[in-house]
Amino acid sequence: PSPILAGQTAVITGGASGIGKSIVQRFLEAGANCLAADLNEEALAALKQEFAAYDNKLDVVKVDVSDRDAVEGMVDRAVQTFGQMDVIVNNAGIMDNLLPIAEMDDDVWERLMRVNLNSVMYGTRKAVRYFLDRGQGGVIINTASLSGLCAGRGGCAYTASKFAVVGLTKNVAFMYADTGIRCNAICPGNTQTNIGVGMRQPSERGMAKATTGYAGATRSGTPEEISAAALFLASDQAGFINGETLTIDGGWSAY
Ligand code: NAD
Repeated sequence: PSPILAGQTAVITGGASGIGKSIVQRFLEAGANCLAADLNEEALAALKQEFAAYDNKLDVVKVDVSDRDAVEGMVDRAVQTFGQMDVIVNNAGIMDNLLPIAEMDDDVWERLMRVNLNSVMYGTRKAVRYFLDRGQGGVIINTASLSGLCAGRGGCAYTASKFAVVGLTKNVAFMYADTGIRCNAICPGNTQTNIGVGMRQPSERGMAKATTGYAGATRSGTPEEISAAALFLASDQAGFINGETLTIDGGWSAY
């Protein structure tokens, strides 16, 4: 049997680290061409080196996902390089120091909305326009979070941005279900990645509250445990799954 993404092309944002990097690896192993986009050029160069065996099946590009033109250019680049795009994973995201609203200034709110939400809108809109234009459907996977479904796992801006990603995902799925486009979100629980590196001064209140929320977690997950779900959603095996949020948290939210 041929690998399940053979002949397909995927674009993955935040592809140089953590969950995104693991998705790139799984998609390559599944036979896809991948364009990994990230802000971190060094990490992209390291990725290209680590996966050198895939040679020209892996392309990397520096993109700030909060920049609309850069996100649209990223999709154009994948289509130019590989002849098509079949899957986009809008995955890049940042945290907010667990800031409750009274401690949050406008800069934090605006940054989180730009990087976690506007980015997903830009990538999804460009992908939908492209998919409609070529008339063969396509797959969109947005990395939301357990924080897109529950209130007690992040700060105000992070939580609001991820709830909005879930809403966008469901609306797109609903609007285009008759076109062969599928749009789903993955909602990881606590996962071992580099995302905490940016969390230098967590809010005391936010940390105390989140710790209560964390009590129900048995362990954190690995990026591989998250990327397995992304591979499933990208594949035809998930052909009837649309507008869904797939929680991957070891039972944390069931608590
Ligand atoms: P990570 O920090 O390891 O990887 C994120 C990548 O995104 C990094 O390589 C970073 O350079 C890149 N990035 C950040 N801002 C960017 C920008 N403006 N433009 C382009 N690239 C940018 O973190 P991760 O945990 O793998 O995060 C991936 C996604 O998973 C995020 O959306 C995050 O909110 C979500 N998530 C993570 C967890 C967790 O516990 N790690 C849980 C739920 C959801």
